[in-house]
Amino acid sequence: MHGMMMTTPLLITSLIQFAAKFHNDTEVVTCRVDGTLHRSTYGQIYERSQRLANALIELGVKPGDRVATVAWNSDRHLELYYAVSGIGAICHTVNLRLADAEMVYILNHAEDRLVFFDTDMAETVARIQPHTPAVESFISLSDAAGIPAGSPAGALDYEGLIAGVPDQYDWPVFDENAAASMCYTSGTTGNPKGVLYSHRATVLHAMASCFASTLDLRTHDIVLPVVPMFHVNAWGIPYSSPIAGVPIVMPGPKLDGKSLFELMDQEHVTMGLGVPTVWMGLLDHMDKMGRAPKGLARVIVGGAAASESIINRFELKHGVTVHHAWGMTEMSPVGVVNTLKPKFLDLPRDQQMPIKVKQGRAIYGVDMCIVDDDGDELPHDGITSGRLLVKGPWIISEYYKADESALTSDGWFDTGDIATLDADGYMLITDRAKDIIKSGGEWISSVGLENAAVGHPAIKQAAVIGVPHPKWLERPLLVCVSEGDSRPSLSEVREFLAEKVPKLWLPDAIEWVSSLPLGATGKVLKAGLRARFADYSLNK
Ligand code: AMP
Repeated sequence: MHGMMMTTPLLITSLIQFAAKFHNDTEVVTCRVDGTLHRSTYGQIYERSQRLANALIELGVKPGDRVATVAWNSDRHLELYYAVSGIGAICHTVNLRLADAEMVYILNHAEDRLVFFDTDMAETVARIQPHTPAVESFISLSDAAGIPAGSPAGALDYEGLIAGVPDQYDWPVFDENAAASMCYTSGTTGNPKGVLYSHRATVLHAMASCFASTLDLRTHDIVLPVVPMFHVNAWGIPYSSPIAGVPIVMPGPKLDGKSLFELMDQEHVTMGLGVPTVWMGLLDHMDKMGRAPKGLARVIVGGAAASESIINRFELKHGVTVHHAWGMTEMSPVGVVNTLKPKFLDLPRDQQMPIKVKQGRAIYGVDMCIVDDDGDELPHDGITSGRLLVKGPWIISEYYKADESALTSDGWFDTGDIATLDADGYMLITDRAKDIIKSGGEWISSVGLENAAVGHPAIKQAAVIGVPHPKWLERPLLVCVSEGDSRPSLSEVREFLAEKVPKLWLPDAIEWVSSLPLGATGKVLKAGLRARFADYSLNK
């Protein structure tokens, strides 16, 4: 027997409709690319999303079509999120820090029909235009006068596009499992892979994000996502804040400590979300000012591990509470958030800290376990580490255009992370299954860098490992076997690599060895290299 309840599909449009109806004058404040501050409201965002929906239909965008954004966090980007997904098309957010070749690959793989770009990205998109023939129009996120010189030929302007079109749009109702947005992974083992988020997954993730044990979003909060809208939908904030009635402050491109401090201070931001590197920048400025930005009560640290020192600097020095969190592109992204169970609240700080540095406990909707290499489940004792597997309604089942499931035979997604789980449910990432290098919040593919390095005539073999760095946490060390007698300098190698990989990937140091340690199958043993360079200092 079926229950007798409405079967209203969980569509993304419902999120902004709710906000426009019940939190109409709640603000969305954007620091635009030109540095000006723009104030909008959920009511206005909704109205402009309807205009944009009509404009997209006029441009011939059909359900299922991909529409790309190459843009910072902003009100217009938010309008794109709702208009594109709302008409049944797919909002494909592109990481604007990618190298041209990667961006070209991703746009072609996704078969994007339109590309909306921020004005400071005009030259980048103009360079890739000749290589992305399927893109019909490039649209500058500005008015006509703001289209920068050097934009792609025939670029349109966003404000012109939505001017003079009706501000009412009759949103279609369709299957909640339809794709709504898309984000590519960093492609650490080969090409980047597309993750397609459904309407249902996005709405459920937004609802779960509001829980007190997740982000605890309340109407009195003012949230600033430093995490970009091109990185897993800014951890879902553009969807969760509207239903929590929370104002959003969008930082645009200025993410240095001083700019963030001033924006937070001026707008009385209560909560920020970002990766450790941006928080270190903010902390330096807070130390300089001798205070936290006015109103800042808590920060969520995710994307890379939050160290004890970051937690202490925020909490002890400035009275700002830190919550550690973990997730991934394939998980929409939130998987665990660290909140202390009541029994830990009164512990002395030195006993709390080992718990606080853990990534956190699973939120409702995310099931997890750890297994050994044979797939057998391991105990939750806080000591035994294993491959972390996850399951749930906002977790990937298959990559875009893949011919096989992304899941194990019994339906789990293998995160590629190695973790422990303790009896209280706290998860700690102990390692990565792959040898990825995390520099700030960005990933550096060791394989990608090695492949580029061996293109140098003087480099016979190359291996890349991460070594500690005070600001970026980790930076790449390039370990090489030379082809002949010549050993090019670090700056020569960097110059050679600069045309092939993103700037961020360029190694900070180079070491020459006579041979690389090899494993039984002929693969370089990274663990051996890491042990050899365990005490490596980038300052020597
Ligand atoms: P991405 O898909 O780019 O968001 O990266 C997801 C990966 O980042 C995870 O699989 C982890 O390896 C890593 N990660 C995310 N959050 C944390 C965290 N709090 N601590 C350590 N690693 C993290």
